[in-house]
Amino acid sequence: MTTRISHWIDGRPSPGTSGRTSAVYNPATGQQSAEVDLAGADDLERAVASASAAAKQWRSASLSTRAAVLFAFREQLHQRSDELAAIVTAEHGKVLADAAGEIARGLENVEFATGVPHLMKGGFSEQAGTGVDVYSIRQALGVVAGITPFNFPAMVPLWMCANAIATGNAFILKPSERDPSAAVFLAELWRDAGLPDGVFTVLHGDKEAVDGLLRHPEVAAISFVGSTPIARYIYETGTAQGKRVQALGGAKNHMVVLPDADVDMAADAAVSAAYGAAGERCMAISVVVAVGDVADSLVSAVADRLPRLRIGNGADDGVDMGPLISGEHRDKVAGYIAAGEAAGARLVVDGRRASVPAEGFFLGTTLLDDVTPDMTVYTDEIFGPVLSVVRVATYDEAVALINANPYANGTAIFTRDGGAAREFQLDVEVGMVGINVPIPVPVSYYSFGGWKDSLFGDTHMYGPEGIKFFTRGKVVTSRWPDPATSQVDLGFPRTR
Ligand code: NAD
Repeated sequence: MTTRISHWIDGRPSPGTSGRTSAVYNPATGQQSAEVDLAGADDLERAVASASAAAKQWRSASLSTRAAVLFAFREQLHQRSDELAAIVTAEHGKVLADAAGEIARGLENVEFATGVPHLMKGGFSEQAGTGVDVYSIRQALGVVAGITPFNFPAMVPLWMCANAIATGNAFILKPSERDPSAAVFLAELWRDAGLPDGVFTVLHGDKEAVDGLLRHPEVAAISFVGSTPIARYIYETGTAQGKRVQALGGAKNHMVVLPDADVDMAADAAVSAAYGAAGERCMAISVVVAVGDVADSLVSAVADRLPRLRIGNGADDGVDMGPLISGEHRDKVAGYIAAGEAAGARLVVDGRRASVPAEGFFLGTTLLDDVTPDMTVYTDEIFGPVLSVVRVATYDEAVALINANPYANGTAIFTRDGGAAREFQLDVEVGMVGINVPIPVPVSYYSFGGWKDSLFGDTHMYGPEGIKFFTRGKVVTSRWPDPATSQVDLGFPRTR
């Protein structure tokens, strides 16, 4: 019997009624582990009706009531993070330590949201006019939806739901159909934390569920994370429906290594950031830009490290890198390696020839040198364990290369020169920058987001911008009755 993964509506599992399901696999064994319901119109209506009713109550819950639920949820998540990590590893394939890492970063977002009484404070101006006070408040939007990618099945939903719920909205999560169990586990934790039924909903599905959310009049806002073509579609369709949309897309993250950098430190960072989670991270480094004469020593330092990485089932001890999400994706990544070699890149390490487990969706680590910007290994987001090295002569060439790329999620520079690092931070047209830090994912009290084709909309994810995204501002101008000064005046109100 295959396990059936159902929607979570009104605080409990809710089997789908569309008759459509999708297979869920353990990528380390290649075996199907479950099937997940794919929502149709009836499921969508049930989910939105439940969320809509819950939103009307939840927006009126006191700030301290909401904060108390967030604190309880934080405790649940903290105590049960090992169980959640095992679920993530079993459906995504990343190693357990990495799954624990994504949960720890998601937990930070919950901790940020426990401060909602402070985060929702407005401004107040006494005596803006004679006897008149003006103040601003922020209010929940109502029903909001999050649509998330396969590669962070716990962290990305937490980026969204903690702030959405803390600010008084009802949140509908449409997780990736490829690893949907983490979303249901989060729903159970919310229930156990005392969240009223209907405030957190999980609606499983594919394009049909997404299109339903994009067009439903009761859904006020969509927060999306995924690939660039879908992010663009979500942004264009959602905003055409009058919704507030933030849509984070794909990436091609460059790591610049200047000639004065510590080569071993740069190589450690490049290997960690390129091959962690088998390269299936939106903040993975996929291009090293070697400036000047650092290139030869850097390429050999990276190549030296690769045979030492242990590839296997992420649930096993001592494994550094797990499989890819599917056999189809593994074959696509292998195709990019072949195309790079055919286009003239130098194959320093070929992951297709690595010794990896025969079962499951494994591919070894690949290092390509002498990559040029016209090759598909450079232009496309590969989302696999493939690192390309582009050699340039100067710092200016490195920055020009990055700024010409349509993706602009993250980037990093490795150098001992503080002046060069400050210049980079000013010059580079990318949303998140690391200085001797290869994966500069901002802490939860800043906000996360790229530029250009890596983000559609103008609000970044989580942190202060997340609070802003899930609320709308209202300004109140008030005066208390003073009959003695009351008169008819058809002029436009003045403050002086
Ligand atoms: P994806 O775009 O295929 O899917 C993301 C979500 O969109 C899923 O929930 C999926 O069900 C839905 N979806 C897929 N096709 C759709 C369609 N045609 N119409 C409507 N909805 C559709 O992305 P993925 O493969 O799950 O995740 C990997 C991608 O996400 C990579 O490009 C990666 O860079 C990106 N990503 C970006 C960030 C970021 O913060 N910028 C973070 C994580 C992942």
